[in-house]
Amino acid sequence: MFLQVEDLNVFYGAIQALHGVSFSVEEKEIVSLIGANGAGKSTTLRAISGLVRPKSGRITYQGRDLTRMRAHSIVGLGISQCPEGRRIFTNLSVLENLEMGAYTRSDRKEIADSLERVFHHFPRLKERRRQEAGTLSGGEQQMLAMGRALMARPRLLLLDEPSMGLSPILVEEIFKIIKDINAEGTTVLLVEQNAAMALAISNRAYVLETGRVIAHGPAAELRADKRIRAAYLGDVIETDAAGAAGAAGAAGAAGAAGAAGAALS
Ligand code: ATP
Repeated sequence: MFLQVEDLNVFYGAIQALHGVSFSVEEKEIVSLIGANGAGKSTTLRAISGLVRPKSGRITYQGRDLTRMRAHSIVGLGISQCPEGRRIFTNLSVLENLEMGAYTRSDRKEIADSLERVFHHFPRLKERRRQEAGTLSGGEQQMLAMGRALMARPRLLLLDEPSMGLSPILVEEIFKIIKDINAEGTTVLLVEQNAAMALAISNRAYVLETGRVIAHGPAAELRADKRIRAAYLGDVIETDAAGAAGAAGAAGAAGAAGAAGAALS
């Protein structure tokens, strides 16, 4: 298994953010972690990157135990995270930000190749390479954050909420680029509140609720699951109840409404 997370428990002081989270990612997959605010998605990525220490559980990557490894060593193994909120260096240029992403590498030719690859995916960054990063639009800043993560030449790219704050057109664009990056051979673990978009490009997904995995499976199956649709894909659940009413009368409608309500709780 490429990445395996087993029974992860993470605390922030007295608050338990993850309760026995387990999942896996195979090489070349796009796997999504979806769920509401505070479900523990970012915490899971931070644990993989070595930015928070799990109290217990195990994270293995290509057979190596990452659980107690330092963050910079984890980057060195080919895992790179693009954090929520972008965290770019606003007073540095686009190019300087990208060069920061290659800090673990010293081969100038390789760094130049990575830069070309980033500019291939994000031509707008090439046009704006001398511009101060803080003056970029929100979408461009997201591209820069992803580009910086790619500069480390990751084999596993961890993306935290890449769609956050972007217009629908830009979200489409960013997700297409994620697919392209994956098609070139980079494995992607994607955290998203935009479950519809995440499921549309993923092979598989895990649903997190208050720090626990409550459902998982192939993305297509989750997209077809009524409970997932109602809770995460904005389906209007009255439609189900109305359908049941037509088929089975008023008692059926009450039952369906109750079941749909339970799926949401
Ligand atoms: P969001 O999309 O809002 O970031 P999330 O699913 O990524 O949500 P996390 O950020 O992982 O969720 O948070 C999981 C839980 O841990 C939440 O209850 C949150 O309040 C708590 N938490 C996260 N970071 C910290 C922190 N630094 N200190 C204390 N509690 C934290």
